Amino acid sequence: MGRLQKILIPFLGLVLAFCFYSARENFKPEMLKGKRVIVTGASTGIGEQMAYHLARMGAHVLVTARTEAKLQKVVERCRELGAGSARLVSGSMEDMAFAKRVVEAAEAELGGLDMLILNHVGKSYFSYFDGDVRHIQKLLDINFLSYVAMTVSALPMLKQSGGSIVVVSSMAGKVGFPFTVPYSATKFALDGFFSSLRQEFSIQNVNVSITLCILSFIDTESAVSAAAGVLQMSPAPKEECALEIIKGGALRQREVYYKYALTKIPLLLRDWAAELLDYLVRQHYRVERPPAA
Ligand code: NAP
Repeated sequence: MGRLQKILIPFLGLVLAFCFYSARENFKPEMLKGKRVIVTGASTGIGEQMAYHLARMGAHVLVTARTEAKLQKVVERCRELGAGSARLVSGSMEDMAFAKRVVEAAEAELGGLDMLILNHVGKSYFSYFDGDVRHIQKLLDINFLSYVAMTVSALPMLKQSGGSIVVVSSMAGKVGFPFTVPYSATKFALDGFFSSLRQEFSIQNVNVSITLCILSFIDTESAVSAAAGVLQMSPAPKEECALEIIKGGALRQREVYYKYALTKIPLLLRDWAAELLDYLVRQHYRVERPPAA
């Protein structure tokens, strides 16, 4: 082993360990007390769990998704858990005017915004790419363009509060995975947009943080049922995942990796041994029986 490698590898290990553990030690739930937060896709799954964590921390929570009845229950639970306040706006993120309206509701009812958590995701298939271009277009509207539209609308308030944008993405937004071609395209788009925007914020001294969250397989109902019988991997708990996302946003981290061992570590291979990573990814899929379209 060369001298440089002998120094470089332990050094990189130390840097990674520092980044990982220092973030965990510094987080305090009080950081969210009284903060005004929008959580999208909060009627179920990870978004719902984020709303509950924020409520326990005493934040003012505004939740949104399409299903009003589910959101109503989330709001009630948030109030029971101690939220500063809890409210909902229901509608579809296919419509950019609706995305804008959610932000306007936060301005009118909360008087500003400290954190924008972009988490919603449109329904797609878990199967071989079927060539449906219109589906990709629709999914781009929901999973990508509405994130952009909400960011644009929220920026004046976030600049004023020195706030944070938290973008929930996936390993499928960093690495090519089979059976999620349209979904993966939308998640890669998020990385391009928000990582470039972060650079501009840094150059322009805009005091708004952008946290991109790279998630592995999580035990939400939609993900578990979609991947059943094909993805050979245990899902991680949505409650813990939700908390890690909030911590990362509060600490203004550049990126959140959850589960760390299943995201950050494999990503180290991406640029150095891409074929090996592709091979390892494929080993987690049972493909002798292709999933139904
Ligand atoms: P989920 O349980 O399927 O929840 C999706 C949320 O988005 C729901 O609240 C849903 O509510 C809302 N939604 C769907 N279509 C919408 C639309 N057209 N307009 C507005 N809201 C809409 O998802 P999840 O598994 O918790 O995933 C949350 C985030 O984590 C997503 O960004 C996902 O990509 C990411 N992620 C998840 C996993 C995983 O394994 N679970 C892995 C990596 C990344 P309504 O149906 O009521 O609208």
